[in-house]
Amino acid sequence: MPAVVMKFGGSSVVDATAIRRVIRIVTAERDRGRVPVVVVSALGRVTDRLLGLAEEARLGHQVDVEAGTAELLRRHAHEAAQLGADGDASLVQAFDTQFAHLHSLLQAIEDCRAADPRALDAIAASGELLSSRLVAAAMTAVGLPAVWVDARDVVLTDDRHTCAAPRIDDIAVAAREKLDPIVSAGSIAVLGGFVGRAPDGSTTTLGRGGSDYSAALVGAGIGADEIQIWTDVDGMLTADPRVVNDADVVPHLSFAEAAELAYFGAKVLHPSTIFPAVARNIPVRILNSHRPEAKGTLITADPPRAHRSFAALACKRGITILDITSSRMLMAHGFLRRVFEVFDRFETAVDVVTTSEVSVSVTIDDNRRGPDIVAALLEFADVTVEEQMALLAVVGDRLTTNSALAARVVGALTSFPLRMISQAASRRNVTIVLPEASLARAMMHLHRELFAVSGQMR
Ligand code: ADP
Ligand code: ASP
Ligand code: MG
Repeated sequence: MPAVVMKFGGSSVVDATAIRRVIRIVTAERDRGRVPVVVVSALGRVTDRLLGLAEEARLGHQVDVEAGTAELLRRHAHEAAQLGADGDASLVQAFDTQFAHLHSLLQAIEDCRAADPRALDAIAASGELLSSRLVAAAMTAVGLPAVWVDARDVVLTDDRHTCAAPRIDDIAVAAREKLDPIVSAGSIAVLGGFVGRAPDGSTTTLGRGGSDYSAALVGAGIGADEIQIWTDVDGMLTADPRVVNDADVVPHLSFAEAAELAYFGAKVLHPSTIFPAVARNIPVRILNSHRPEAKGTLITADPPRAHRSFAALACKRGITILDITSSRMLMAHGFLRRVFEVFDRFETAVDVVTTSEVSVSVTIDDNRRGPDIVAALLEFADVTVEEQMALLAVVGDRLTTNSALAARVVGALTSFPLRMISQAASRRNVTIVLPEASLARAMMHLHRELFAVSGQMR
C-alpha cells in the first residue's frame, strides 16, 4: 500500500484546535487512498520550555522547576481533555510515566548542579514523546485506527547526544519491522520526531528542528511515496518571511536547491532533511497546516524548468569570520591543510572560504570552540576575528549555467559593505558575507532586485 509520511511541526500541533486540523488533513490524505505515517514535533514552544527547565534545575531554582513542570503537565492534560482523549487510560498512564521520568531527570540535574548532554536529550525528548501520544489518542478518540510507535525503536542513531547522526541501514530495517505491518493494515502510525536511540539504549535527539529529518529518515526507511512537511507558511518562500514581508511561494525546487537553502538558513527545513529523500528519490512537499488548500512547494530531483533565474534567498545570522594569514607571508605548501586540520580537530564546520596569496578567510556559524580554534591557528598564523556577521545566500540551479546571474547578484549589492563573496563549488549559490547590522536591508533590497513581482525579470 502506498504510504505518505506527514510531519507536523510545533505550531501545527500547538493546541487542540491545531491538532483537530491535523486530524482533518490526515483523514483527507487517507481518503485519497494513501496510508499516512504521522511524525509530530512537540507542542509549540515545549522544547524551549523543557530546555529552560533543565537550565533552571542546573541553577538550583527548585520552585521554578516545580512550577514549570506542573504547567507543562496542565497544558498537556488540558489539550487532551479538549480532544476528548482524557478518558484514554493508556494516554493517562503514558503522561504519568513521562512526567515522573521528567521529574526525576530534573531532580538529578538539580542535585548535581550540572546537565550533561545525555540528560538534556532525555529531557528534550519528553516533548515529542508526549505530543505523539496525545495526537495518537486524539485520532483514536475520533475513530481513526492510530497506533503510537516509540520513535526511538525506529530512528536508531549514534551516541552524539544533542546532535546524533542516524544509522541509515539500521533505520531501514527497524522502519520496515515496526512500520510496515501498521501500514499494511491500513492503520496510521504516529511517532514523535526529533528523538532517537543510541546503541547503548539511551535517548538521543537529532538537533534542534530535527523532526523534519526524522520524517525524511522514516520516509526513506519505508520507501514512502512522498514526505510532507506541514508547517506554518505556504511553502519554501523566496526569502525568510521574518525579514522580507512580501516573499512569494516557490512552487518547485530541485533537491539540490532545497538542500542549499536549508543549509544556508531557510529554517522551514532542517538542513539534513533532503539527503534521505535524495537517496531514495522521494518527493518532499512543504505545506501549510493552517491553509491546507494552498499548493505548497514540491521538491523533486528534476523539477519542471522554471521561468525564474533564481530560486530563493536564505540567510544566517551570528556568523564569525576568521582571517588567517600565513606568518611566512606566503601560502606555503601545507598551510591550508594545517588550517583545515584545526577546524576538523575542533569539530567545527566551515561555511564559506576565500583565499588570497597570503591569507585565507573562513566563516563559521558555531563559535563554541572559537577560542580553541584561534589558539591552535596562532601557532602558525596570524588570526583576526570578526563576529556579528551574517551570511546571505542566493540559490538557484540556473546559476550553474548562466554566469551573468552571479554578476547580477553582486551588482545589486554594491552599496553594502560586503566582506566576502563566494560562488560555491556547485555554483548553485552565490554567498555573501556582510555585517549582521546590514543583513535585513541587503536582503530586502536584493529580493526587490531579483524577485520584483511586476517584472518578467525572474
Ligand atoms: P515547524 O515548527 O513547522 O518545524 P519552523 O519554525 O521550524 O516550523 O519553520 C517554519 C518557519 O521557517 C517559518 O515560520 C519561517 O519564519 C521560517 N523561514 C525561514 N526562511 C524561510 C523560507 N525561505 N521559506 C519559508 N519559511 C522560512
Ligand atoms: N521540537 C524540536 C525543536 O523544537 C524538534 C522540531 O520541532 O523539529 O527543535
Ligand atoms: Mg522546524
